[in-house]
Amino acid sequence: QLRQIAIYGKGGIGKSTTTQNLTAGLAESGKNVMVVGCDPKADSTRLLLGGLAQKTVLDTLRTSGDSTELSNIMRIGFHGTKCVESGGPEPGVGCAGRGIITSIGLLERLGAYTDDLDYVFYDVLGDVVCGGFAMPIREGKAKEIYIVASGEMMALYAANNISKGIAKYARTGGVRIGGIICNSRNVDRELELLKAFAEELGTQLIYFVPRDNVVQRAEIHRKTVIEYSPEVKQAQEYRALAKAIDENTMFTIPKPMSQERLEEILMEHGLMDAIEDYHI
Ligand code: ATP
Ligand code: MG
Repeated sequence: QLRQIAIYGKGGIGKSTTTQNLTAGLAESGKNVMVVGCDPKADSTRLLLGGLAQKTVLDTLRTSGDSTELSNIMRIGFHGTKCVESGGPEPGVGCAGRGIITSIGLLERLGAYTDDLDYVFYDVLGDVVCGGFAMPIREGKAKEIYIVASGEMMALYAANNISKGIAKYARTGGVRIGGIICNSRNVDRELELLKAFAEELGTQLIYFVPRDNVVQRAEIHRKTVIEYSPEVKQAQEYRALAKAIDENTMFTIPKPMSQERLEEILMEHGLMDAIEDYHI
């Protein structure tokens, strides 16, 4: 049974890095995975491909129209991962979300969604689930969502907002949240805070990914950590994240909280407590 998963989270939180490392983990364990980058930056598959994709789906459509072949828009990356970049309009011109739907449509017509696929991951730009960027879930493509967050307030604020969008589409469509992925920023008491936040949201903290500079070292070499340093601890963390998602059975409709409640949780479990402890 194909699982189509969208990854959301605040800008710069680590969506693309985390998505590629966990799909590398899934691929390594024998899963058949496609990654669809939905970001005009077209950097969602760089680590799997060993460099930026030469042409995005929208570029290809502009030059060749509908008559293109699948091999022009889908390239094979690490361990057989299928890599697609939907691309987008010039910044500030047109709606990037439309491009995503155009891309998915073309992928469907060219037969990219084969029966032997286990997973499709959509790496979605930014933290807005309105309009264009909700496309993969609005159109009923991705039924499963993970939000990447950290203990920083703005990351949790964004995660809560994204949940509002998901909740809206969950009531009409079949979209569910599968969990929060913490991509650690080494904030004090981050684990506790993220657990409390996820619980309040009616979901789970599915995995806590530590911060580690090996991620940057691998990135400079255009590789996932799993490919660049398969033996290091961080590679194991990403494999464990992949396993957690593969074995996940908790799919819920999120219950977004008020700004006041979010701040309360930050006070109870997060930074504020740690500051007080520090003074004792
Ligand atoms: P955007 O919203 O712009 O698409 P993003 O959410 O996809 O951003 P990334 O590009 O994946 O974020 O990550 C931003 C930076 O954070 C990258 O340079 C990456 O190397 C770094 N990074 C991500 N995760 C980790 C980690 N666990 N440890 C150390 N560095 C990390
Ligand atoms: Mg990204």
